[in-house]
Amino acid sequence: MTTTSPLIDPFQRAISYLRVSVTDRCDFRCVYCMSETMTFLPKKELLTLEELDRLCSAFVRLGVEKLRITGGEPLVRRDIMTFFRAMTRHLDSGRLKELTLTTNGSQLARFAGELHDAGVRRINVSLDTLDDAKFAAITRWGRLAQVLDGIDAAQKAGLKVKINAVALKGFNETELFDLQSWCAAREMGLTFIEVMPMGDLGNENRLDQYWSLKDLRGRLAERFTLTDLAERTGGPARYVRLEETGQKIGFITPLTHNFCESCNRVRLTCTGELYMCLGQEDMADLRAPLRASDADGVLEQAIRAAIARKPKGHDFDYSRQSVAGQMTRHMSHTGG
Ligand code: SAM
Ligand code: SF4
Repeated sequence: MTTTSPLIDPFQRAISYLRVSVTDRCDFRCVYCMSETMTFLPKKELLTLEELDRLCSAFVRLGVEKLRITGGEPLVRRDIMTFFRAMTRHLDSGRLKELTLTTNGSQLARFAGELHDAGVRRINVSLDTLDDAKFAAITRWGRLAQVLDGIDAAQKAGLKVKINAVALKGFNETELFDLQSWCAAREMGLTFIEVMPMGDLGNENRLDQYWSLKDLRGRLAERFTLTDLAERTGGPARYVRLEETGQKIGFITPLTHNFCESCNRVRLTCTGELYMCLGQEDMADLRAPLRASDADGVLEQAIRAAIARKPKGHDFDYSRQSVAGQMTRHMSHTGG
């Protein structure tokens, strides 16, 4: 039997936002996200598109209003548009308020129109630099021109684009104002993300790459008047308005800002593991209950049991110069 009472965690937070990684694969190999020689999961481990539909639909029934599709690179998953089109019914019913995605932009030229047709209205595109050579260096396999074409196509299709840039010391520090003015000219939002201690540090030491957003914000304030905005998304983003341009700039500081008390989200991996917190190892396997029965009662029970374990917060901490609370998962696993 299924019930529709909403998902409320032990700290009285309503879970209204689900991020879903639909693949662990990617056509890029960003240095802070993947090693160049990643081994990916065997295809049989992945949830099928039908299973993803069943799971997402269960969450929507239980009160999830916002679905963000991510990866890996979501647009490299074969037939992913079938999944997006299937989710349109939840937008049409009014239960789902927003269907969106985070993408590296490489496949947008091909899919922007179809995404819009499926009801997607806003997307996040990850882009750390506007310099061809630096783009090739940071993504290892990416081509900037392809992403810029994708962004053009998205805007032409009527999608609102927000750019997400990882702030990297000694890498895009010098491009702060170029990125800001480029986004202003194209009427795109811009959010900076602090690099997180995910995955194996290996030869890329993320402490070396860490550029604090406090510092970045200080640099912006040298040129602009910054007004803090009250806007909250239930996540780690905080926003300011640049008074001179009217532009909104976001800061995602999972390491230096305590945002856990208003956390409204959970993350589903492409194998059906539900992570109740980005910064904790605890997860619940939803694939087994999903496959155990064609009826959704067992699945819903497993979802409720998982939400009942959502922790109060996470423990990332760079302050001791060694990375405490470091996670061994890659961002491409939980989808960032
Ligand atoms: N492939 C898509 C993309 O790049 O937008 C979606 C998945 S990607 C894992 C989601 C976001 O995580 C991207 O904006 C990426 O820059 C960010 N990311 C990956 N590794 C990160 C890290 N170690 N610290 C902070 N952000 C990271
Ligand atoms: Fe791929 Fe996105 Fe990770 Fe870059 S950040 S390697 S584009 S999943």
